[in-house]
Amino acid sequence: MFKKRLLDIHRIVNGLNGAEGFASTEIEGVTIDSRKIGQGNLFVPFKGARQDGHDFVEKAIEDGAAAALWQKDVPNPPVHLPIIVVEDTLIALQTLARSYRDELDMRVVGITGSNGKTTTKDMTAAVLGTVFKVHKTSGNYNNHLGLPLTILSMEPDTEAAVLEMGMSSRGEIKFLSELARPDIAIITNIGESHLLDLGSREGIAEAKLEILEGLKENGTLIYHGDEPLLSSRLTEPKGFTCTSFGRVETNDLYPVNISAGQTETSFEVNAIPDTVFSIPVLGTHNVLNSLAAISAAMKLGVPVQKIREGLKELELTAMRMEMAKGSKGETIINDAYNASPTSMKAAIELTAGITGFDRKYLVLGDMLELGPEEKDFHYKIGELIDPASVSKVFTFGALGRYIAEGARQKFREENVLAFENKSELIEELKKTVSANDLILFKASRGVQLEDVVQSLQGK
Ligand code: ATP
Ligand code: MG
Repeated sequence: MFKKRLLDIHRIVNGLNGAEGFASTEIEGVTIDSRKIGQGNLFVPFKGARQDGHDFVEKAIEDGAAAALWQKDVPNPPVHLPIIVVEDTLIALQTLARSYRDELDMRVVGITGSNGKTTTKDMTAAVLGTVFKVHKTSGNYNNHLGLPLTILSMEPDTEAAVLEMGMSSRGEIKFLSELARPDIAIITNIGESHLLDLGSREGIAEAKLEILEGLKENGTLIYHGDEPLLSSRLTEPKGFTCTSFGRVETNDLYPVNISAGQTETSFEVNAIPDTVFSIPVLGTHNVLNSLAAISAAMKLGVPVQKIREGLKELELTAMRMEMAKGSKGETIINDAYNASPTSMKAAIELTAGITGFDRKYLVLGDMLELGPEEKDFHYKIGELIDPASVSKVFTFGALGRYIAEGARQKFREENVLAFENKSELIEELKKTVSANDLILFKASRGVQLEDVVQSLQGK
């Protein structure tokens, strides 16, 4: 955990008040949540829309915080308490994280992309963890606030950090990358999320490529080479090296002999002879995510056998391609955490490719935030579902209806059912499924399709 003399923090964040009286105070850890104060913490309050963290400074210090920051424009700073007055508490937090990152002698892997960031982060951390002391982003702490907090929670002897970088508009990845200064940057893919804010897939690609702005001199970019928007822009890299991965054989790394089991996938890699890798998750997209992790680990000198071990023992964050059983014994793939056209396509392909079940069903809900062409995106997803590999398609939500419309181009009318009411959907599913069936659930987070999953599990 971050440890520092308050006096030094005052200097780093450009404290505006005097530092008399701080002489012997030491800080251990930084928190922004006044309900979770640890002994010796620095409490950082924000002026929120509904609540003002400054109202809790006094309480935080009573609860054990050693000191707090205070934003200049908030009236009545408690001068009797150990506080550092700053222009802006968020900027001060970010400045502190940047300075701590520079102090740590560690390798940093920064991960961005439209889909698969968290998965690739977990995979990379698992393989690096076989050799290094690793710290990774917890959950989805991947933005202008989450990233600094992740860095500040690192132990000083951290040897490798694996950091997720998320974004919804231009400039965000540049900011995060310049803060984290990665030795290795990964772009998992370019999808359609945030099309609304970024205008086009080109715009999305450019936004992800901002990760290069913070990449260390002579660092490495590992990118999805099947994406022309990336490969065409990276033909003559300057000041960094590039490694591409993807399904296509023109990539530096591509998978061979992919074999999907019921709960795990094994594959070989073109550039690594005589080695079979196995991951405890399904889907070609996860094979690609692991190629990015393998590539980063090789760059950092992790032996191939260790990489194999790390991938095998991988634990992924909940609700991403999670396998579960329903109350009739049916197998459920719960991927209700998030959805975009790219990830929806990946999940449908995955389900189509799994064998050994009597029937396979898809339950697909709205994909949110896709902009003016949202209906078309849904319709196209419906069109690509193959009746040869899926028995029935259930859709949920107002946009989900367009998936159903697309699916009806190939499916018989009675095998495509559109719902806008969860209880009706649940009732129909309960009537339909039996023990040896497989059901995929996928929709955007906001749809809360997990409610339906839970009902089928009798929860
Ligand atoms: P978020 O933007 O919510 O942080 P993320 O980029 O971290 O998302 P993950 O949480 O790893 O992504 O995965 C979300 C979903 O995206 C998965 O459940 C899966 O369906 C899909 N997915 C994962 N990897 C890929 C990939 N390489 N290509 C396409 N889809 C993918
Ligand atoms: Mg994520």
